[in-house]
Amino acid sequence: MTTSTLTVLAGPTAVGKGTVSAYVRENFPQVWFSVSATTRSPRPGEVDGTHYWFVSDAEFDRMVAAGEMLEYAVVHGRNRYGTPRGPVERALSQGRAPLLEIDLQGARQVKERMPEARFVFLAPPSWDELVRRLVGRGTEDAEERERRLATARVELAAEGEFDFTVVNRDVRAAARELVELMGLSPDDV
Ligand code: 5GP
Repeated sequence: MTTSTLTVLAGPTAVGKGTVSAYVRENFPQVWFSVSATTRSPRPGEVDGTHYWFVSDAEFDRMVAAGEMLEYAVVHGRNRYGTPRGPVERALSQGRAPLLEIDLQGARQVKERMPEARFVFLAPPSWDELVRRLVGRGTEDAEERERRLATARVELAAEGEFDFTVVNRDVRAAARELVELMGLSPDDV
């Protein structure tokens, strides 16, 4: 019996999940963030153990084989990402408010294993806006962009699988809405 509820935030690529969760991380310390393990390399400024656990393929394999992952997935056909199970279970038993910011495949796995979790879909204001954000980010080449757009199109259709939708028109408003859905007061800080 846990005393709190796990919240899973997912949504299409480039919808701004990372930005919204960074805002939550900075402004709402009452939210407990899961640190995912990933096989991708750190980007400048990313800290091991804070943004991700940066692990080798062999270590990722070991974690999966040992049953240490609550969920895991290959994201954008490239690197593997997974949520270590132990810290999430500890946070729940301590009555904290844990948040997972993961991709859709991972959210589906969590739904199978923890159907009582709260599933929140972060949606763009419109398809055009999503395309603008994806292109505007400019961090991917044309081929990668096309791949991400194709993924986003499929991912947008998944909204109905979620308990709640938060539309990301404005980062601050979306973050506050998410925190309220988590049963926390966004004005506590
Ligand atoms: P990035 O490489 O830009 O940090 O993240 C790429 C994608 O991986 C994002 O869509 C993010 O939601 C997803 N992601 C990050 N951590 C996890 C995880 O633990 N599990 C799953 N399934 N996806 C994750």
